[in-house]
Amino acid sequence: MGSHEQESPHPMGLTRRGAVRAGALAAGAVLLGGAADLAAPAPALAVAAPKVYTRSDWGARKARRAATVTGAPDHIVVHHTATANSTDYSKSHAAALSRAIQRHHMDSNGWDDTGQQFTISRGGHIMEGRNRSLAAVRDGRHAVGAHTANHNSHTVGIENEGLYTSATPTRALMAALADTCAWLCLVYGLDPAKSIVGHRDYNATSCPGDRLYGMLPDLRRDVASRMRTAQQRLELLSLAELPEEHLPTYPAVPTGERAAPYYHGPALGERDAVRAADADADTDADGRGDGGTGEGLPGEDA
Ligand SMILES: [Zn+2]
Repeated sequence: MGSHEQESPHPMGLTRRGAVRAGALAAGAVLLGGAADLAAPAPALAVAAPKVYTRSDWGARKARRAATVTGAPDHIVVHHTATANSTDYSKSHAAALSRAIQRHHMDSNGWDDTGQQFTISRGGHIMEGRNRSLAAVRDGRHAVGAHTANHNSHTVGIENEGLYTSATPTRALMAALADTCAWLCLVYGLDPAKSIVGHRDYNATSCPGDRLYGMLPDLRRDVASRMRTAQQRLELLSLAELPEEHLPTYPAVPTGERAAPYYHGPALGERDAVRAADADADTDADGRGDGGTGEGLPGEDA
């Protein structure tokens, strides 16, 4: 028993096959009813992964040593960078921030590499931090960093750009942070209510600032909601495993369909039990009511 870890049920109740299909979606495969080629197993739950820029994207220096890779972590630690609350929301600024942090961690602190696994800018750009971090997540494993004393072996660190003792993070940053946490919780099978903590929960520090720390309960709820959405997408994907004859069928999509406000396809037809005489008059041409006067709505008979 236990000889094939890939065959154990996923924490979210997904079968390995479903997870593989999810990975196929992330790779751009057809969503439903498509003949996705699943010969090469894709990383599980990549469907939930946000866009994360790699170290080469931001021009990382080579680490002094390759990070140690261990088993799955059990907590996500939220930090602030305690740098300026920049209003430059560009990707190039985010890349420069990642380089500056790496320089500080390697040259001033004398560390092997960037300490945290991920960095999120105020523009909402998500950057890989320590070497091997992205690959480790994709494998359901952990690249050990340097961000929370005595807890680096079991925690993923996310540095959020800014100083949040009294200022509030940008919406873009919070959304990217929630996406990142939802992805990590799905990959590692973590409960966001218990696993998302602030640096101060482990060490004596003001990090991640009173304001951001006070937002963690909302973040946990937001993450749970994003996880449910991802789970629903995965369940939809599992429909694609049904034999063709059990899949729902749909009429062909017309070409050259009219484009007009409120028009989303045929909405009333001759078999609809609504004011037959009027509806007939209105729907002969294109199968819909005129929409502007409420004609054809049930319950409007005088
Ligand atoms: Zn911190």
